[in-house]
Amino acid sequence: MELMTSGAFARASGLSRKALRLYDELGLLHPARVDPATSYRFYEPGQLEQARLVAWLRRLGMPLADIRAVSARPPAEAAAELAAYWARVEAETSARRELAVFLIGYLSGKDTAVHEDQETLTVRYAVRSDTGLIREGNEDAAYAGSRLLMVADGMGGHAAGEVASAAVIEALRPLDTHVPGGELLNALDHAVRRADKALRDMVQANPALHGMGTTLTALLWSGSQLGLAHIGDSRAYLVRDGEVFQITQDHTLVQSLLDEGKITAEEAASHPQRLLLLRALTGDHASRPDLQLRQARPGDRYLLCSDGLHVAAPADAIARVLLTVPDPDQAAADLITLAMDAGAPDNITCIVADLTTQPSQTPRPTPSVSH
Ligand code: MG
Repeated sequence: MELMTSGAFARASGLSRKALRLYDELGLLHPARVDPATSYRFYEPGQLEQARLVAWLRRLGMPLADIRAVSARPPAEAAAELAAYWARVEAETSARRELAVFLIGYLSGKDTAVHEDQETLTVRYAVRSDTGLIREGNEDAAYAGSRLLMVADGMGGHAAGEVASAAVIEALRPLDTHVPGGELLNALDHAVRRADKALRDMVQANPALHGMGTTLTALLWSGSQLGLAHIGDSRAYLVRDGEVFQITQDHTLVQSLLDEGKITAEEAASHPQRLLLLRALTGDHASRPDLQLRQARPGDRYLLCSDGLHVAAPADAIARVLLTVPDPDQAAADLITLAMDAGAPDNITCIVADLTTQPSQTPRPTPSVSH
């Protein structure tokens, strides 16, 4: 086979000779032959395709080690590698986007934070949890206190889910104390990392717990500032000015398919993998919660619930209860009834919390529900 000079190869591939020299140095594309006397480099015509592929992958921003791996594989395997790489890029971009949105919100709200903190809001809350009609145990756990509300829905065989949700709730419980407004999200983020580490330690100590995990949706108040940490498919809703808003995004396969416009809301409701979680706390270091900083107002009502409520009960029925039942405890009880009426295939946990400027309610003796 006749070899091409580096100049001819550069012209044919559309790459500069400098780029070809760089690819050689980086181990991405070695010449077929280097003349020992002149150091001139020669390429085979068959290397043109690989040279173009390397150039495209570099334009994509792929790290060198990945380019080496992809360009050395047969086309079908290279395609699979590339798809996996791009899925990682999109996941990282989405996490960075969330952090950027939070920082923008945080910095924009900084000027008003001092003034807003003068207002003291009181939380009136009620917690209800039920095993439902099908499951044998309750793997949900919840906590409600004057500054902190949270719901966790555990998963894993042989009751490991119960261990996971209870452990994460325990790990975050110390947050129910005064946390300065500017520290809300840091405090939540650190507490979630501590919780993740607690899960990791438990699995190391007892390998039978391997594969356990839990969702977590937590609200933490400081004055009128509210921090929200969320991972998984439990949900938080806000009722304000007569409207109900879902303020968390499910980390499920169907939600991502919906976001990408690949399925409709109707198809999502009956999708065979509608319960498949893309993110949960599993003790693997990798799963980061969504974090939001919000302004709370007197009159706001919040609902935190596990999927045992929002998957089973119709959204309009949930909204009706939230909008028409003034007492938080009665509202939580009515929400549980909605899920029961729908067959309650899963554990159901609800926290209904009303924000008022009234004096604090008498603390309940056992605010934590953990099964
Ligand atoms: Mg559940």
